[in-house]
Amino acid sequence: MQYASTRGHAAEQTFSEILLGGLAPDGGLYLPCEYPQVSADELNTWRKLSYADLAFAVLSKFATDIPAVDLKAITDKTYTSVVYCNARTGEDAAQITPLRVLESSEQRSLLLQALSNGPTLAFKDMAMQLLGNLFEYTLAKNNAELNIFGATSGDTGSAAEYAMRGKKGIRVFMLSPHKKMSAFQTAQMFSLQDPNIFNIAVEGVFDDCQDMVKAVSNDLGYKQQQKIGTVNSINWARVVAQVVYYFRGYLSATTSNDQKVSFTVPSGNFGNICAGHIARMMGLPIEKLVVATNENDVLDEFFRTGIYRVRKSAETWHTTSPSMDISKASNFERFVFDLLGGDAARVKALFNKVETQGGFDLSGQPGSDGDEFQKIAQFGFVSGKSVHADRLKTICAVEKNYSITIDTHTADGIKVALEHTEPGVPMIVLETALPAKFNETIKEALGRDAERPVGFENIESLPQRFTVMSTDVTKMKAFIAEKTGL
Ligand SMILES: *Cc1c(COP(=O)(O)O)cnc(C)c1O
Repeated sequence: MQYASTRGHAAEQTFSEILLGGLAPDGGLYLPCEYPQVSADELNTWRKLSYADLAFAVLSKFATDIPAVDLKAITDKTYTSVVYCNARTGEDAAQITPLRVLESSEQRSLLLQALSNGPTLAFKDMAMQLLGNLFEYTLAKNNAELNIFGATSGDTGSAAEYAMRGKKGIRVFMLSPHKKMSAFQTAQMFSLQDPNIFNIAVEGVFDDCQDMVKAVSNDLGYKQQQKIGTVNSINWARVVAQVVYYFRGYLSATTSNDQKVSFTVPSGNFGNICAGHIARMMGLPIEKLVVATNENDVLDEFFRTGIYRVRKSAETWHTTSPSMDISKASNFERFVFDLLGGDAARVKALFNKVETQGGFDLSGQPGSDGDEFQKIAQFGFVSGKSVHADRLKTICAVEKNYSITIDTHTADGIKVALEHTEPGVPMIVLETALPAKFNETIKEALGRDAERPVGFENIESLPQRFTVMSTDVTKMKAFIAEKTGL
């Protein structure tokens, strides 16, 4: 299996070659040169597999340059009790991503797929835990080391730290805005005592942190010298690890391959639902892929109108489903490539237009950049939007009707899912976080605290390990160099 850039850069790469990198040299994203297909026989065999074996089966189709025994060892090591350590009582944890039936009738079947029982209580653990083991394996093989440098306002940074803690050959330098994260999220990250994890609290806002990451990334000499890498959501291995749970969800909700299901995905950077799109392209019988956004509705706008219009920071709202607060969707280019039939020259032109003019228009209206909007239905995509008041209402209704407390992102998903259910097609909503992470809104909705998983009761009082720094890039670079000794 070879990989190529969505913008047409000539050199094809293997899975291992793109594993540690980010963007392709031409600024595009990597995609497989063709999507591997899954036969009906294979799907039937996969019905009986454990999650770890299913992950091995799916990944074997993509990571063809990793020897099977090694890949098997990595998936076995990853998909154990660690990724469901916070499963709620009574849940069949052996399934790793169990389905919960909320409603099941002729008219409407609504299911919730639990993806957020890992160490940081958000679905990002599902992929990041695999990434940690893949990185460690690849680095050891090449006798190399990697210093991950990134900025976070919450979920991504903690998922990365929990996946990389204690891993040989890897250090993590994670910037976060000083005193701007919730006490719970801060405690999750800062209570890690592993010597390879460095939490840096920057005296500024999240954008300042991101600017510092950019400044360091643009210094190619320094980047090379310090072996700097990232683990952001465009990483191909993260996307492909997420493909696995779409298969698991489908296989758990059906008994025959003649049946179809739909998925609703609370979306921000389009990484999670992009994995659903890939599963569908591989032949998984998915009817609809429903994109659920919050007030930051750049994706909902595109799927309703064909117009992609990225937002300025002043138009990017801080919401109560903060992990979906995006101004542009960094994985969206992968879908656009498929929507345009793999025309890399046009993808390149469109995303250059995003840089220069803030967006593009595929609505087919006079003066637009194309008419591919009419093809979106063939890919199963529809969308919807949910705002703060919807979130509160949905959290209450789900508690009342199904006796389950959901988090704010999952609430956005359920609200939008209910607008797209159809008789005979189970609708699976992906649960992307546990409510304990977003307690303030749970309290606002339900008038009580969210239940905390065992072990998190007193997380805020654990000793914290972090360094406060100003926005001075030179000092930041010196700090990293001192710690790496490179
Ligand atoms: C990251 C995140 C999302 C958005 O996922 P994307 O892959 O960026 O679309 C949704 N919900 C939660 C809780 C998240 O952490």
